Amino acid sequence: MKCPKCGSLNDKVIDTRQSKDGTVIRRRRECLDCGNRFTTYERFEEEKIIVKKKSGDTQAFDKAKIIRGILLAAKNRPITQKQAENIAEEIEKFLIDEGKLLVESTEIGDLVEERLRELDPITYIRFKSVYNEFKDIKDFEETLKEIKKDSKEE
Ligand SMILES: [Zn+2]
Repeated sequence: MKCPKCGSLNDKVIDTRQSKDGTVIRRRRECLDCGNRFTTYERFEEEKIIVKKKSGDTQAFDKAKIIRGILLAAKNRPITQKQAENIAEEIEKFLIDEGKLLVESTEIGDLVEERLRELDPITYIRFKSVYNEFKDIKDFEETLKEIKKDSKEE
């Protein structure tokens, strides 16, 4: 760390302390050139996911928006608020774990669909029709066929 007094980059850590909850580390340092003592803090950097929309606009990843989208598609279907929250949290965790901090909105749509498809085919179809749009009637029929295949396998 650069000494705030003389600008030297030579320093040594003379004391390290962790906050009670373990989220902050405080280090007491001493400049080897001028003897100045100063303190630095180490914290987690907040991970922020940026979503790129089809229009090219970007916006911050918003879990609440995903949850609303799912619940809207799940109207009168056996999907709970808690399940919708879990899906949104899973997707956020997945993106952070993968280091994907810039993601296309369609990719988020795909991730939601993947999970809805397992939970409830009707909600899945509704969600897909609103958020990812079927390219044409053939695309829609293909999706229905896939779902029928899924339910036969069960
Ligand atoms: Zn110094």
